[in-house]
Amino acid sequence: ERRVTLVTREVSSLPAGRGSRGSRGRSCKWKDMLRFSHISQCMDLDIERDYLSLCVNQPIGKKLFHLFCRSRPDLQNNISLLDALVCVDTLEFRKPTSLFLCFRSMHEYLCGEPFVQYQDSLFFDRFLQWKMLERQPITKQAFRQYRLLGKGGFGEVWACQVRATGMMYACKKLQKTHVKMRKGETMALNEKQILEGLNSRFVVNLAYAYETKHALCMVLTMMSGGDLKFHIHNVGVPGLDKDRVRFYAAEVCCGLIHLHRNSILYRDLKPENILLDDHGHIRISDLGLAVRLSEGSVVRGMVGTLGYMAPEVIGHKHYGTSVDWWGLGCLVYEMTAGQPPLRLKGEHPKPSEMERRIQKEELEYGDKFSKEVKDLCSSLLTKNPRERLGCRGSGGREVQSHLFFQSINFRMLEAGLVEPPFKPDPRLVYCTDVHDIEEFSSVKGVSLDQRDHDFYCKFHSGSIPITWQNEMIETRCFSELNIFGPDGSRSPDLDC
Ligand code: ADP
Ligand code: MG
Ligand code: MG
Repeated sequence: ERRVTLVTREVSSLPAGRGSRGSRGRSCKWKDMLRFSHISQCMDLDIERDYLSLCVNQPIGKKLFHLFCRSRPDLQNNISLLDALVCVDTLEFRKPTSLFLCFRSMHEYLCGEPFVQYQDSLFFDRFLQWKMLERQPITKQAFRQYRLLGKGGFGEVWACQVRATGMMYACKKLQKTHVKMRKGETMALNEKQILEGLNSRFVVNLAYAYETKHALCMVLTMMSGGDLKFHIHNVGVPGLDKDRVRFYAAEVCCGLIHLHRNSILYRDLKPENILLDDHGHIRISDLGLAVRLSEGSVVRGMVGTLGYMAPEVIGHKHYGTSVDWWGLGCLVYEMTAGQPPLRLKGEHPKPSEMERRIQKEELEYGDKFSKEVKDLCSSLLTKNPRERLGCRGSGGREVQSHLFFQSINFRMLEAGLVEPPFKPDPRLVYCTDVHDIEEFSSVKGVSLDQRDHDFYCKFHSGSIPITWQNEMIETRCFSELNIFGPDGSRSPDLDC
């Protein structure tokens, strides 16, 4: 179990300014590590010529396409208008349909002739050079390793830093022998494949997947502010104040909406899986139990952590996104009450008793619950999934419209423009004392064969494009290297 002690930064041996952006922490050889290949070597790259992917979704692609448009007098206005539309879109909660139509017609125009011309320009050549860098094979030499952050089922999680850019990440290492012994291949690959298809500020992002001789590694967004379990139970009086409950619940709600929109069920919502970053924003992590729903389908299977399972999961019924809204109810309850629903402090009921309570027993709300938060919890913790908030037709939007969230501007929140109510103290480490984390033992007598190697090949896909490109932009490696022309003039920076 976690201890209350907070370790000071000197002990924790992390470089100062966690998650440090900027040139700090870059290797002195960073320019050699990120050297462009000659364009003639990039021509054979296998790139799908899709406007949305190349010019909208990929961050470096988008920047280069915008630079191209700005270099063309006939397209400059289009791109300025597009930027203005993005700003309005972020700030306006009720999006007028005219705005949507405007976006659509703008993209309809740009994806025609301008997109064809872009692919003949030096801006697109440069894009190919960046893609070539992105596709370099990744080994452990690409990273420096710092302190141990935590322990999982198949191995440890370490703080690490990309040598070339200085970006800090968390590296989740899965010991190959442990994975094999406990038949965790499907689960590991599942987590990796689900994460690589997502990109949300409310879910940890996968930046790299690679292998070493002994481990499979997932390099994830660094979340150094501890998990919500720790914040609820180990810092001061159990529970969190109303503003933090509202803010975290709202961000988790956005994360769930993103997952569900991508047909992913999360299934493991509980305080210890919600992690805080430096600034005090949260992300959903540990997607080992998540599952992809095929079109409109439902799944079955008693999966999750018993105390947080929905009645329909325990009842071996088919279920869908309803289970995650139940999970959000449990989370809001625990953040408010300072203890999980349906259990007394320090009580560990038998599994059969816990199942009975979840299916039959009504919840009790103490005096820490305001009228709004009580109503939110009881709507989310409705036993019948068809009557539960979040499941009555408009999905997560109906949760966001609940009175409890009245003061939250969800558009601003989704754009990362809402200041968190609590900022972790950069001198503290909000987790178990690193010395309390047991060493991960190695397993003997497990040998790895060809079938294992086939699985590793599916796993180690290297850099994940969108996260990698964001890393280049955030650490300013993009703007420092993206120089055009013999005069070496800097390209105008397009940070909005
Ligand atoms: P498992 O799936 O094996 O349970 P987790 O993904 O939960 O593994 O990771 C184990 C522990 O490592 C977590 O409880 C947390 O303390 C730490 N951890 C995981 N991901 C991160 C991250 N992105 N940033 C910081 N710490 C993390
Ligand atoms: Mg875990
Ligand atoms: Mg897991």
